[in-house]
Amino acid sequence: MASGSYRNGTPKTTKPDRSTSSTYTTPKPTAKSRVAAGGGANVRRSSAVPLIAKDDAGGRVRVAVRLRPQNSEELVADADFADCVELQSELKRLKLRKNNWESETYEFDEVLTESASQKRVYEVVAKPVVESVLEGYNGTVMAYGQTGTGKTFTLGKLGEDNIAARGIMVRAMEDILSDTSPTIDSVSVSYFQLYMETIQDLLCPGNDNIAIVEDPKSGDVSIPAATVVEIRDQRSFLELLRIGEAHRFAANTKLNTESSRSHAILMVHVKRSIKGRHDGEEGFPVENGQASSLVKSFRPPIVRKSKLVIVDLAGSERIDKSGSEGHTLEEAKSINLSLTALGKCINALAENSAHVPFRDSKLTRLLRDSFGGTARTSLVVTIGPSPRHRGETSSTIMFGQRAMKVENMVKLKEEFDYKSLCRRLDVELDKLFSENERLQKDFEDEIERVKAEAQNRISEVERKYMISLENERLKYQQDYMDSIKKLEEKWMINQQISNNERFWVGNHEGFMDGGEASVPSTSDSMNDDKQLVKTENLLRQSSEDEVSSLKSQVAQWKRLEAAANAEIVKLNKKLESEAHQKEKLEEEINILKNRLLQLSFEADETRRSLDRGGSGKAFSGFDTFMSQARSSQIRDSANGQKASIAKLFEQVGLQKILSLLESEDADVRIHAVKVVANLAAEEANQEKIVEAGGLSSLLILLRSSEDETIRRVAAGAIANLAMNETNQELVMVQDGISLLSMTAADAEDPQTLRMVAGAIANLCGNDRLQTRLRAEGGIKALLGMVRCGHPDVLAQVARGIANFAKCESRASTQGNNTGRSLLIEDGALPWIVKNANNEASPIRRHIELALCHLAQHEVNAKDMINEGALWELVRISRDCSREDIRMLAHKTLTASPKFQAELRRLRIEC
Ligand code: ADP
Ligand code: MG
Repeated sequence: MASGSYRNGTPKTTKPDRSTSSTYTTPKPTAKSRVAAGGGANVRRSSAVPLIAKDDAGGRVRVAVRLRPQNSEELVADADFADCVELQSELKRLKLRKNNWESETYEFDEVLTESASQKRVYEVVAKPVVESVLEGYNGTVMAYGQTGTGKTFTLGKLGEDNIAARGIMVRAMEDILSDTSPTIDSVSVSYFQLYMETIQDLLCPGNDNIAIVEDPKSGDVSIPAATVVEIRDQRSFLELLRIGEAHRFAANTKLNTESSRSHAILMVHVKRSIKGRHDGEEGFPVENGQASSLVKSFRPPIVRKSKLVIVDLAGSERIDKSGSEGHTLEEAKSINLSLTALGKCINALAENSAHVPFRDSKLTRLLRDSFGGTARTSLVVTIGPSPRHRGETSSTIMFGQRAMKVENMVKLKEEFDYKSLCRRLDVELDKLFSENERLQKDFEDEIERVKAEAQNRISEVERKYMISLENERLKYQQDYMDSIKKLEEKWMINQQISNNERFWVGNHEGFMDGGEASVPSTSDSMNDDKQLVKTENLLRQSSEDEVSSLKSQVAQWKRLEAAANAEIVKLNKKLESEAHQKEKLEEEINILKNRLLQLSFEADETRRSLDRGGSGKAFSGFDTFMSQARSSQIRDSANGQKASIAKLFEQVGLQKILSLLESEDADVRIHAVKVVANLAAEEANQEKIVEAGGLSSLLILLRSSEDETIRRVAAGAIANLAMNETNQELVMVQDGISLLSMTAADAEDPQTLRMVAGAIANLCGNDRLQTRLRAEGGIKALLGMVRCGHPDVLAQVARGIANFAKCESRASTQGNNTGRSLLIEDGALPWIVKNANNEASPIRRHIELALCHLAQHEVNAKDMINEGALWELVRISRDCSREDIRMLAHKTLTASPKFQAELRRLRIEC
């Protein structure tokens, strides 16, 4: 048996990097002083010898084992048993008893007995990592062990009641804060827990599923969504830990788990700027061996961004697969997933496997830098003394042993702080901008000042110049005046002298000789004066010439001006007359424009008055448009109208008018249809209108127009055109009956109905169209229109019926019709009987005639008797005021055997 043998704890001699004998030397991370070979295991160290020698750049994961003292339960329960472990802390060895006679010994980087103080644990396990972090390396401190063995005690104890009990987190922050400056450096913290592969923010509980982000280039992992809190003092940090703990408790209650099932991770980010280094380093231009100030200002400062990760792992004990804690098997797997993955990664790293399954869990992704990465990592494995948990203790020890084989390559997390350079340059740039603005302003002010000064000087000089000029002018004027005066005086004197001389010569000719001596001087001066006067005269003369030439020029200009003015006046007049002309033309255009509208309105008016005047007549359709006008006033207006429309017809052309029926503009369509209707009232135009396609256009309007007026007027026009037999057939061919029937069914306006009824009534008078008209619903449409009750409409309906009955009786007389009247077939008889004695004479007359026509055909007699028409016939034969009708009724009554028989039966004399 391998009692007392090393197991997994490979002897130091074979693995120098696992040396535990390195001592605390100078804290230069670059100075390598790794102690190579063994034998040093027995060297005693002071209690403060760190677990990681600071000069050890190799960065193997350092592992300490910590034994928890027996707790009260164990004191009772395990009283009769020996502890399962025995520590030899000086030798850094741990013996795990298998039984009373067998044990296995393991060697660790540090072995911490149950009496090891929190301070000592911190100093050997965490302090070197913390110092390393302060120097710019990433660091990890992690606790691994069975639940209840003291992981949280070791890492997270706050020590509020007893400061000696403070754990690694609190002590680490104390060291970090004392070594950093809040003005230059920055310390910030995130705190979260990982449970069932979900990351929950312990500083912001709502943030309960945070993502891990990996930098694709560097492979660095970060949790950008986690809350990061800047730490300035220890008090706020403790508060934060308390908050985190409370949230962890709340989160675990919510998730129905214990904190022992989740991993708590504290991340401390330390950012330090490095001053006074890298001056004139490679990559930056240097002048005369000295970095220029410009270069200095562009050189990015150096910043070290390191991270201390403190991980309080979930309990390493196996979860009961039966799900005794209320978890399903799947949940149990998920709870263990991260820890299992960590074990696998550590195994792979320990065995130098090519593949390390970091990506298998969130924990291993987060700890990628801590194991086999660039961080300095220290692991404390916690165990309990109870022999009852020997299995778990053993597996914890094995985990620690494997972790000791993991090599990290620590790397300084130093980089150029481009952001801060950018900020600095921004500030610099702002300064330069504002300086530039200030200079610009100064410059502009200076220019303004110089300008103003120059302006002042110029005006001063100008003023002085004006004054001196004025003075000079005055002086010259004065001089001139003086000299003129002098000259005048001289001239006066000379004049006087010459007068005197002349007088003297005249009176004293005899003394001429004697007087000669005094004369010469006077004559000289006279000559001078004469010369002067002559010059003056010449000058005056030339000035006068000048003046007269200027005058003549002025006169010429004036003449030119006058001529130009005359031209302008002429042009103005021309302009005025042209404007006048234009106005007149515009007026004419307006008049012409209004003409068409006016014409159609007038035509409307005229037609309405004609209609009113002719309403008493039996045929009040458009056929009587002209001829029925009785009053001379109306006739005049109608004639004028007729002339206007005829003129329009000639001017505009029928084709053009018809084309307006399809205009986009509803008003234009209305006016156009009115004009066409008026034209259609003239028999002379009807043929032309039909030839030009007017009838078709009107029928289309009937079909397509939504406008009641258009339909009314179009129906009127169709009624007029349908006076003519050929046109009646054309109307039928073009589906006119159904269009008229449709219009009749839709229309409300009695005038529309009157027009439609008039049109159908005209068609009813055509012998050849009888059957078709009836088949296409013409009679039904007629009878339908009586709903309106308007006498004009009823008159047209009655006329239609009379026309139809007349054609039928004609056909039966000729032997062409043997069947019952189509009017009776279509149910017209009751209405005929009801209105046979209508008080409106046009209706009454038509119906009386209709009854007479119907009665002429014996086949109708039975229906007529049944419907009461016989009585009406008897009445007509007796009372009708028109003799011809009275006679006709009488004749038919006597001619019909059926009527006769009925009358006899009723004993009525006829
Ligand atoms: P874990 O986090 O590993 O589940 P805890 O840190 O919660 O364990 O410790 C469990 C119990 O043991 C706590 O009451 C704790 O105070 C106590 N304990 C753990 N380690 C020590 C120690 N070294 N000295 C005294 N008490 C300890
Ligand atoms: Mg715990």
